Amino acid sequence: MDTTVHLLDRGTMELDLNYPLEGAVTATASNPNPDAVRAEGPVFNLLVDHPAGTLLWDTGSHPRAGAGHWPAEVYDTFTHRDADEHPLPAALEEVGYDLADVDHVVQSHLHLDHAGGLHNFAGTDVPVFVHERELKRAYFAAATGRDAAYIRGDFDHDLNWAPLYGDGGLLFDGLEWLHLPGHTPGLVGLLVEGGTADGRDLFVVGDQAYSAANYEDGHPMGRDLLHSRPDWEASLRRCRDVERRRDPLVVYGHDPEQVDRLPDVL
Ligand SMILES: [Zn+2]
Repeated sequence: MDTTVHLLDRGTMELDLNYPLEGAVTATASNPNPDAVRAEGPVFNLLVDHPAGTLLWDTGSHPRAGAGHWPAEVYDTFTHRDADEHPLPAALEEVGYDLADVDHVVQSHLHLDHAGGLHNFAGTDVPVFVHERELKRAYFAAATGRDAAYIRGDFDHDLNWAPLYGDGGLLFDGLEWLHLPGHTPGLVGLLVEGGTADGRDLFVVGDQAYSAANYEDGHPMGRDLLHSRPDWEASLRRCRDVERRRDPLVVYGHDPEQVDRLPDVL
């Protein structure tokens, strides 16, 4: 299978370390007032150039995240200062593509740092694959205001939604999706056969694991980043089962060290 994967640089987000790593900073008797830590996480998308067409994995943060598209209190918590310097069309150009080359979009989920480029596909017939449960969750959040990680203006467009149902399946030959609920109800991962330069499979688990610590140590994300911890743990077991059977390169959602190395292996 002649498949090439490109990394799209969409900038860097900052957030309190206790979000991606539960209890990372904890008061103890000997250190009752530890300093809070702001962590940095890269935001990236993947462009999968596949015989069946060109597929875009996630669409990043909206370029006006810091200019009012994200509510001020949300931006104060999840701060993506350079979102405006890395809009989707420019990130595509950096790897030799443009918007019109994108035949399919897969949204791992619809959080604000993943769905903010969907407006680029409004009014087109480009299919946008997203899990049924994620689309329902996003509109529930928009209607009730109960989950600030979803921004109605990201996804409430005239889009050619292509809902994914159930547990997983084949998108195209050699491209498989898996339902990985936990971080959100409808998170999906993508398994790309021969997705690395040396022909190894690529398993994009996305925000199932913000970084290697979540995946390798089973250290959960904290606070609002786990919709369901039991589901997250079950999804982690599912990922590890895939890993045992396929020996893929597992790609995390926001791991700075891994993202630095990725271009060398893709
Ligand atoms: Zn997320």
